[in-house]
Amino acid sequence: MIERADLAMTKDWSMNTKIIHDNQFPDPETRAISQSVVPAVAYAFPDAETAAEVVSDGAKGVYYGRYGNPTLHVLERKIAGLEGGEAALGVASGMAAISIALLGFLKHGDHVVVTKDVYGGTYSFLTSLAPRFGIEVDFVDCTEIVSLLSAIKPNTRAVYIETPSNPRLTVLDIKIIGELCKTHQLPLIVDNTFMSPCLQKPLDIGADIVVHSATKYINGHGDVLAGFVVGKKDVIDFMRKKLMGDLGQNLNAWESFLILRGIKTMGLRVERHCSSAQKIAEFLESHPFVEKVYYPGLKSHPQHELAKRQMLGMGGIISFEVKGGLVEGKRLINALQLAMISFSLGDPETLVQHPASMTHAAIPKEERLKFGISDGLIRLSVGLEDANDIIKDLDQALSSLFSVSGR
Ligand code: PLP
Repeated sequence: MIERADLAMTKDWSMNTKIIHDNQFPDPETRAISQSVVPAVAYAFPDAETAAEVVSDGAKGVYYGRYGNPTLHVLERKIAGLEGGEAALGVASGMAAISIALLGFLKHGDHVVVTKDVYGGTYSFLTSLAPRFGIEVDFVDCTEIVSLLSAIKPNTRAVYIETPSNPRLTVLDIKIIGELCKTHQLPLIVDNTFMSPCLQKPLDIGADIVVHSATKYINGHGDVLAGFVVGKKDVIDFMRKKLMGDLGQNLNAWESFLILRGIKTMGLRVERHCSSAQKIAEFLESHPFVEKVYYPGLKSHPQHELAKRQMLGMGGIISFEVKGGLVEGKRLINALQLAMISFSLGDPETLVQHPASMTHAAIPKEERLKFGISDGLIRLSVGLEDANDIIKDLDQALSSLFSVSGR
């Protein structure tokens, strides 16, 4: 008889089916379909030899909670499968994943090339903490392949990009950058947070490592902080032992369970985020009080054609500038009644924020302006509410800005 587990391995499922069934089977003892939570820190071994064997090869089992737990391992196999990687490491936040991925390749005296508009936390890590360990960084406009090429030095050991970027939604050509990295034997690390594996699979088109803030679309409910690093098994094994384990960056069993639950609706959620964001971006672009809209699904986006080739959907994040600038931008977000002012993204609720004073406040103003993050820029994370209600909310807030009473 073919076991269901074997059958699952042979099926050529599409993403939406994989999200539900890939690498996840009913509990062999209880037949429970939803994943059991195993909170144990310590595990018993039949003899000293087995214990030593598991410690030397973590893949053979679980030995101590700081290096993983059985619930997390199910989730890691699922994420690795969805991203098309050999292995995945689940950690305590997106920033834990990013710092582990970078420290996995960089040591004292090394240099890393980074795309210029990255998440503020990534910028902060690379400019304040990494230099204390002798790691050098250059931020480069990676839409210009020549700039990327000329930034590579003899001591460059990795290239790090985020696409689409936070908050300007710059789209980078993973395939071309991947080819350049291969030529220079440099690992390419891609932050895939804005896309989720539903919309973009960087490992299939030239990346070596994918990182995620699973706090966003993967969990999707705004109630867990988590991150993933996905790549080759030997690299992930090293990161598990030497970085996640030794730095204590592990993801616990309960949060792993919450993600295993949240991820089941990721396909549906992402579809809705994308379709609503497209409508809202078009509404904003046609609004007389809006100066500029950044959304890869708009024809006016500078990398719209690349986005159509590289991404299966345009995502749920829109950035825009209101006419006037900073003061009007802040007044607009204060006038919103449905969208909430908040730091996160990818949640069921529509969230709005002002990058210059919130998520990207760690970047000095001149640098921020070079990265295209103006004082008036607003980032909108389109939620799962009815798109027309989100549009009505934006419309009333925009109208209030320039009405007599709004002044
Ligand atoms: N990467 C991107 C693109 C993000 O937007 C964020 C957070 O907003 C992170 C990484 C960091 O994730 P976390 O907050 O889970 O550490």
